[in-house]
Amino acid sequence: MATTQVIGKRKRIALVAHDHKKQDLIDWAIFNKTTLAKHELFATGTTGKFLEESLDRPVKKLLSGPLGGDQQIGSMIAEGEIDVLIFFWDPMEAQPHDSDVKALLRLGVAWNIPMACDRATADFLMTSPFMHEEYEKNLPDYTDYLKRKI
Ligand code: PGA
Repeated sequence: MATTQVIGKRKRIALVAHDHKKQDLIDWAIFNKTTLAKHELFATGTTGKFLEESLDRPVKKLLSGPLGGDQQIGSMIAEGEIDVLIFFWDPMEAQPHDSDVKALLRLGVAWNIPMACDRATADFLMTSPFMHEEYEKNLPDYTDYLKRKI
């Protein structure tokens, strides 16, 4: 049986950027400052520090990504505590925490999270009317999986 989750008007947005993508994310965040002001922001440690400085507003900072921050965001997604993920990962550089990156992307899809991994998609997301309204999101039905015979 499908279930749903109502996402409020004020979204809980998680932001993560790999080192070579941080400037891109900051430029994007400054450009979207007015929209972002209406929402609650979470970020991995270093990304969060730069965002706080450039947006001049508080950001809930988790651990640095490679030190567990990606996994903390993944855990919040699984617990229904994050509504939107903006994740500028670097397609040109292997990361020491590649397995965490993959895990975060996987959980985003597993829990039907609106997710942008590049600037164009992030712009489309921010300009969606759903950013300013409640949105009833379908939650995937994992009942069969949970009740599987082992
Ligand atoms: P950072 O982590 O914001 O602490 O640099 C980003 C990442 O996941 O690599």
